[in-house]
Formats: sequence, structure tokens, C-alpha cells
Amino acid sequence: MNVSTLSIGDELMYGEVIDTNAAAIATRLYACGLKVRQHLAVGDAEAEIVAAIQSLAAASDAVIVSGGLGPTIDDITARAAAKATDDRLVMNDEALAHLRGVAGKLGGPLHPHNERQALLPAAATLIPNPAGTACGFILTRGCCSLFFLPGVPGEMTRMLEETILPALRQRPGGGRCLRTGVLKVLGPSEAEVDALLSDLADPGTGVSLAYGVTFPEIFVKIRVEGEIAEDVAATLARTRERARQRLGESVYAEDDETMDSVLAGLFRGKAVTLSLAESCTGGLVAKRITDIPGSSAYFLAGVVSYANAAKSSVLGVSPELLAEKGAVSAEVATAMAHGVRRLSGSDIALAVTGIAGPEGGTPDKPVGTVYIAMATPTDCRTKLFHFHGSREEIRTITAFMAMDWLRTYLHSL
Ligand code: ATP
Ligand code: MG
Repeated sequence: MNVSTLSIGDELMYGEVIDTNAAAIATRLYACGLKVRQHLAVGDAEAEIVAAIQSLAAASDAVIVSGGLGPTIDDITARAAAKATDDRLVMNDEALAHLRGVAGKLGGPLHPHNERQALLPAAATLIPNPAGTACGFILTRGCCSLFFLPGVPGEMTRMLEETILPALRQRPGGGRCLRTGVLKVLGPSEAEVDALLSDLADPGTGVSLAYGVTFPEIFVKIRVEGEIAEDVAATLARTRERARQRLGESVYAEDDETMDSVLAGLFRGKAVTLSLAESCTGGLVAKRITDIPGSSAYFLAGVVSYANAAKSSVLGVSPELLAEKGAVSAEVATAMAHGVRRLSGSDIALAVTGIAGPEGGTPDKPVGTVYIAMATPTDCRTKLFHFHGSREEIRTITAFMAMDWLRTYLHSL
């Protein structure tokens, strides 16, 4: 089944409102196995709305339209819908009764401008609006069903879920099943991930792969399409497992999980405590750890020791060591980790020191040089990284890699 969407409103054309309705509709359709083939957005201009409805109707089995059903002068969707379907506007008694009912509940008579909202194409079948005034309606043009919904996102979504999706599911081609599994990967590049996985895509079994990047993470999206829900679920599980095996430890989270939530789960499960000493990340790791509710069960303390003096006075890093090795060194990272572990009494301590830039780099230690140290009950190890990018990117990836090291360490316990 070919489904298209149309968003209406000048505010969308001016960039004042982001077209979240298009995404909300596409997501919900996709979950029912229906892919949006075309999406258009037009302003509050009758001729353009008419042309958009007619062109989408010619290419689709169903079109879902949102916006412009309100009482104001710019709300002209009903009129354009009548024109596009060679119909005329008539007073719809059912819509009028609904509007009067809403006005009554609010304690007043219906404003004449609101009455205009009941002027609908003669052939319209109403879609009830349980959350607002503007009724939606259904029209037909050729073989295409046109569903008109108000623009207010909360109203639009309820009407879509309660009326339109159940109707579309009943139709031929409306019962296909689409499922997406997401693997979140840190470490290999997008090209490396693709080289490892590309042969898992198989049109024969309905498996396709897509990639997304949100620095510094890569999302591998495994999409499976088919007729029978159980088969689709089984194919997705099988493909996911094969992808996971090939990517190994670089998969840090799946689906709705995040690095933060995965780490929180591991800390809870292992019953160990953490403290942090941060320099170049300025508390970013602590922020992300404490973003998760309940993190007080395992996170004891974080020190942002930005100045050398603070590294010495708070964490006990010796001034001689700082002078000899420099603040960005394996030795100082180790001393910071030991210092904060001693201070807090935590099981694990992580320390981060590096040069986030844009200034401060030297030929030996260019911008992006970062040492991370991890002190545990048994030992203390350091890792050296050379990151690239802006100050923000270097700080982001440093925090990510620090958390990822914690993740792999906790896994190994
Ligand atoms: P109303 O009765 O509120 O006038 P309506 O059907 O006329 O309903 P619009 O006037 O087009 O809807 O939009 C109402 C509000 O809904 C807008 O102010 C806007 O914030 C939001 N909105 C409209 N279209 C979209 C869209 N495509 N994506 C996100 N928000 C939208
Ligand atoms: Mg409006």
C-alpha cells in the first residue's frame, strides 16, 4: 500500500514550527508495516493545497493530511479538500454537535468563527477528535483515501492511532510487518562496520541495513520486512546475533539503550562503586553518570581538578610529578585516579586528563592528546588517545571512551 503525508501551514514554510507531525505519522505507520512513499509540506495557500492533495492522491492509496482545520482565517484545508475532490462545503451536523458539545463543556456558547469548523465537504466521513474542537474527516479521490487531521500534534496523534491506523491495517497490504533492530557501535569507522556487515543484507529474506552517525557513535539499523510477524521477529533476532558476533565488544548498546543506561545497569549488577577525577572533560563524565536516576547507589564522588594546584591540594598529585611529566601524562592520570579513589573510598576510580584545545597543544602533545587512568582494587592502568576535532568533540569523545572503558571492565568482572 502506498501511503503519503501532507503537512499544511505557513508556519512550516517560515521555519517557525518544525514538521514533527510528518515524523510522528511516519514512525507510527512504519511500526504497522507501512512506509511513507512521499511527503509534502505546503503553506496556507488554497491553490497549492489543492495541487498537493491531487498529486499525492494520484500516486497513493492513502494520504494523511495534517493542519489547517481550525477556526481562524488561515485554516482553509476543508475548503481546499472540497475543491480537490470536486465537492462543495456543507454544514456538517455531526461536527456542529461536537463543536457545541466542546463549547458547552467550556461553559459558553459556540463562537461564530468556531461554527465555520463544521463546514466540511459534503462527502466527508467524520473522524472524531477526543482531544479538541476540530473534527477530522475522510474523503475519497479515485482509489485514494484522504484522511484530514488537525495540526495540533497531540490531537493529530490520537486520531491517527485511534481511527486511521486500525482502518489501514484492515486493507490489503496493510498487514505487512516491519521491524528494526539497532546496534550502537563505538570504535570502528562507518566504512569498517559496513565492510563487516554488508553481506547480511538480503532482499530474499527482507533484510536491509542502514547506518546513522551521531558523533562519536555509529548506529547500525537492521530492518526486516515480511508478511508473518513471527518470521520477521526470528529473522531480525538471527541477523542481530550475527552482526553482534562480528562487531564484538564494539557494540555497547542496542535499541533504546544508551551508553549511560548500559553502564548504570552494569554498575547495579556488579555492586561496585565509582569515583572520578576529571580535568579536560570538566565534569562531563560525572554529569552523564548522574543523568541516570539512582546513580547514587554506585557513584560516590567526582572531582573536577582543572588547575594543577587543585590536582595537588585535592587529589594529592605531587607538584614535582606535575612539573616533571606535565599535567597531561600517564603518571599524572594514574596519580589522579589513586588520589580520588583514596579520597572517596570507591572500588573503581577513573581519571581523565588531556588537551581539548583549541590552544595548549605542543609538538609532543598536540590538541586531542588524552590520558585516561583506571584504578581498581587490583591495579591501575592508563590509556593514551589521540582524538581529533573541535574542543566540544574532543571532550565528548573523551567522556564516551572513558565510559566505554568502564563498560568493558565491568563486563569482565
Ligand atoms: P487549530 O484548531 O489549533 O487551529 P489546525 O488543524 O488548524 O488546528 P494548525 O492551525 O495548522 O492546526 O496548527 C495548530 C498548531 O499545531 C500550530 O500552531 C503548530 O504549533 C502545530 N502544528 C501544525 N502543524 C504541525 C506540524 N506539521 N508539525 C508540528 N506541529 C504542527
Ligand atoms: Mg489553525
